[in-house]
Amino acid sequence: MQASYTAYYNAWRTIAWSNPHLSYTGDGHIDNGFCQDCKRCCAPQIGDPPYPMPLLASQCAAGAADALYMMDKETAVLDERGCKALGENGCTLERALRPKSCGLFPIVLMEGWLFLYTLCPASLLVPFMTWFGLAQSVAQWLAALSADDLARLSLAIPDDAINRFTPFHLRIF
Ligand code: SF4
Ligand code: SF4
Repeated sequence: MQASYTAYYNAWRTIAWSNPHLSYTGDGHIDNGFCQDCKRCCAPQIGDPPYPMPLLASQCAAGAADALYMMDKETAVLDERGCKALGENGCTLERALRPKSCGLFPIVLMEGWLFLYTLCPASLLVPFMTWFGLAQSVAQWLAALSADDLARLSLAIPDDAINRFTPFHLRIF
């Protein structure tokens, strides 16, 4: 386990030296330069439980569900099939229709609080305070959403959260 973690860390540390861009775009999306080498968030989730990706009311109305595998009529899902919207050259959905769960990842809204998914290579190699600044911007964007959309986007905190998430201690609702 230690050896595999070290190999994982060293592989990504090499990529981090090229200083991939990382910024918040202002519309509920993080522009993360690590993703082009990782693609984990769009790929088949082998051995992991299905990951819910709730849609905003506006995304549902615009027909985003047609391009995604769905858990229910308002919640897309990433599971062992991968994401239905992933094409040969990346995501086929225009950004406005992509679930915010993938757009904001590795920042995650759970039960009204913001967390950082710590197993993302960008989380591992970019200083936490950089992520905290991004999370503050995300918090401002979330605060402008309707209570209905916030309730949709907020996931349940899993039992093993302590192994995979770091809290920002930023409460959205
Ligand atoms: S795990 Fe992190 S780097 Fe990888 S695709 Fe997801 S957000 Fe991007
Ligand atoms: S909607 Fe696009 S970016 Fe989001 S998980 Fe699916 S393919 Fe990836």
